[in-house]
Amino acid sequence: MKTSIKNRFIWLNGKVVPLQEATINVLSPTSQFGANVFEGIRCYWNEEEEQLYAFRLDDHFNRLKRSQRLLELDDTYTIEEMKKAFVDVIKANEYKEDIAVRQTLFVDGFGTWHSSGPVGMFVAPIPKAKTNPEYNKKGLNCCVSSWQRINDNSMSPRIKCGANYINSRMAQREAVKNGYDTTIILNKDGKVSEGPGSCLFIVRDGKLVTPQITDSVLESITRDTIIQIARDVLKLEVEERSVDRTELYMCDEAFLCGSAMEITPVFSVDRYQVGNGECGEITSELHVEYLKTVTGKQPKLDNWSTGIY
Ligand code: PMP
Repeated sequence: MKTSIKNRFIWLNGKVVPLQEATINVLSPTSQFGANVFEGIRCYWNEEEEQLYAFRLDDHFNRLKRSQRLLELDDTYTIEEMKKAFVDVIKANEYKEDIAVRQTLFVDGFGTWHSSGPVGMFVAPIPKAKTNPEYNKKGLNCCVSSWQRINDNSMSPRIKCGANYINSRMAQREAVKNGYDTTIILNKDGKVSEGPGSCLFIVRDGKLVTPQITDSVLESITRDTIIQIARDVLKLEVEERSVDRTELYMCDEAFLCGSAMEITPVFSVDRYQVGNGECGEITSELHVEYLKTVTGKQPKLDNWSTGIY
């Protein structure tokens, strides 16, 4: 690694600049109202090939475009331009290790919360890939949140908008205050949705079950990857359906997942032990296959890796 975390380079509005120079206007709508959409993209270093592979890059950029269109932000950057900025800034930092990259489209300028532009973009690679404390735990003790997940008729959880994370923030802070690692949030109908920054799977009688996307869940790339691994590699039955709260207390295994979190087992929910209180067998198998998939070593699935160098 050429650059330390503090001295890394950021891509901002067309230029690669040192972190200290990557500043934005305090009056911008992104600063004042969270008017931005973003992606968290993982890259995995392959030692043998001396290559850094980005995972499901096109899928991330397609989701970013969908988020941008839904919020009616000006269409300032093409997918090709977004991809070039992503590659250029990683190269500028000369990263040869696993990284996470935050790529954000934001409303800049002096407008207000409903302004459509001007739209800026930054791309920030983060060498310490697992950024939140709960992402570094072996297993999680979760509660069910007293907060309700945002829904498609208020703020759509389907897309990744900065302001959506105020809902996640309330839920996460409540959980930690009450002695839990993180939380599982129910939707407006009282069905299980997702974690504050991750999707949820449970295992019941050998079947993998996850809340359907229309139950107030982000269109998660990890969730989709896990469904494909389960079906095509492990030949497991997968159900995408509404999940009741009590199923969290009765399931054999549970885990949260996301680009940053990968697959992290849930050991308990509201102090009900999940399975035997350790990482379950199916969760372990999925984790092994997931790591093979993100590092491009899973021949049974699409090649989802893009080489940076
Ligand atoms: N749900 C929420 C609310 C999230 O913030 C994230 C992580 N960004 C996820 C799910 C997982 O999404 P992905 O697999 O695309 O990283």
